[in-house]
Amino acid sequence: MADDCLFCKIIKGEIPSKKAYEDDLCYAFHDINPVAPVHILIVPKKHILGIQEITEEDSQTVGHMFVVARKLAEEQGLAPGENLERGYRLVFNVGRDAGQSVFHLHLHLIGGRSMSWPPG
Ligand code: AMP
Ligand code: ZN
Repeated sequence: MADDCLFCKIIKGEIPSKKAYEDDLCYAFHDINPVAPVHILIVPKKHILGIQEITEEDSQTVGHMFVVARKLAEEQGLAPGENLERGYRLVFNVGRDAGQSVFHLHLHLIGGRSMSWPPG
């Protein structure tokens, strides 16, 4: 935990959030400024600055974040389905150039509308 970190404060309940999921390793909550009908952030409880700081030691946690994302996507009705017509996007912004603004690792789960590629 880092004292001056927004997401550490959210995990501790010091700043309110709309919780989507929680377990021993991670916490998930709805983004305050959603870019799509579904926009959930999955964050590890351990304070890790971002993908730029992960090590082998974090492999289980980071892998687990993807499993949580898949389950939340299904709960939100975003499972791609037999014909793969639906879907969602999972994003890590790494560094300011990529759009990272909060320096506590978080996986964006974004869905509920069609999206273009490449991203802006
Ligand atoms: P990033 O730009 O990848 O670092 O993503 C940070 C995300 O955190 C942005 O999508 C913000 O809208 C979101 N965010 C910032 N403050 C809060 C908050 N208090 N509660 C929920 N989401 C937040
Ligand atoms: Zn933190």
